[in-house]
Amino acid sequence: MGNNSIQVNLCSTGKEKPESDQLQFGRVFTDHMFIMDYSQPEGWHDARIVPYQPLTIDPSSMVFHYGQTVFEGLKAYLSPEGDAQLFRPEKNLERLNRSNDRLCIPPIDEDFALEAIKRLVALEKEWIPDSEGTSLYIRPFIISTEPYLGVAPSQQYKFIVILSPVGAYYKEGINPVKIAVENNFVRTVTGGTGEAKTGGNYAASLKAQELVANSGYAQVLWLDGIERKYIEEVGSMNVFFKINGEVVTPALNGSILEGVTRNSVIQLLKHWNIPIIERKVSMEEVYQAYKDGLLEEAFGAGTAAVISPIGQLTWKLEHLFINNGKTGEIAKKLYDTLTEIQYGKQEDPFGWIEKVKEISNSTI
Ligand SMILES: *Cc1c(COP(=O)(O)O)cnc(C)c1O
Repeated sequence: MGNNSIQVNLCSTGKEKPESDQLQFGRVFTDHMFIMDYSQPEGWHDARIVPYQPLTIDPSSMVFHYGQTVFEGLKAYLSPEGDAQLFRPEKNLERLNRSNDRLCIPPIDEDFALEAIKRLVALEKEWIPDSEGTSLYIRPFIISTEPYLGVAPSQQYKFIVILSPVGAYYKEGINPVKIAVENNFVRTVTGGTGEAKTGGNYAASLKAQELVANSGYAQVLWLDGIERKYIEEVGSMNVFFKINGEVVTPALNGSILEGVTRNSVIQLLKHWNIPIIERKVSMEEVYQAYKDGLLEEAFGAGTAAVISPIGQLTWKLEHLFINNGKTGEIAKKLYDTLTEIQYGKQEDPFGWIEKVKEISNSTI
């Protein structure tokens, strides 16, 4: 990258901030955003923080036609001391570059991107809400902007970071959800783009989600795209089962997205000496464990909810009621520990927290 300077153009008057107990997810955005452009031969250049504003890009921009785009999602939390802090942000930037590689998007400099995110968050610190469970959601993304209808990797891109204050995921405490096993649609398949955080995977998931939502389910449980047999993910979260005292999660297989939360859950369970194994898990096995009275817990894991317990799993005509529809002990312990580390209410033995230093506007 070489040139590490970020131009800053501040807005003259800030927007009114919503009440922190009224916040939803992803509807309100802060006063500023980060942008940097890619073209050849310059590479990534013109890094800048500017007032949050619409983009003007050509209708022929490749992203609109062939979906060459990637994104990330992480959060800034306010600690009891009033510090802004990030949770394992370097993991998100590593993953962004893995997604870039899969989508033929040129890599970004991870250290520089982290610096840019920290500066933007520091500038927007007043936007980090302080009610219980709220945070500032960070959405880095890259779009292909070359005005060209040919099917080929774009020669031009924009890397953008926007910020959105978000409400507590659980307003009335952590709460188990109803999940329907999806036997028809698949999210992706090994060899496809499932490992990458790219818009197309989400577009592909909407239909299944819409159909089960009509029947009162929160999400679908995705099975593998080849045999419709092995469990992959739940909604857009990684999934864990506790069977007969051992926690199992589907092994990464090329179609599962490798979550930062998944990785943190695995590390915590190991730290607690709770058996955790990554391997293939079939729906048949989970059903059999349920029949045998050995299915003790099931939960999803991802940045938005942190931990989302599964209280009911419907597979074909069978309803599996897990832990009597209540939050399991391990799910609760993981949720409490992860959120307390994220919000700086508990010691961080793993070095997961990255503090965002205060900056005065004159020193940006
Ligand atoms: C983002 C995402 C996850 C969760 O990843 P985290 O890094 O834990 O937020 C899981 N599955 C899919 C499909 C995702 O897009």
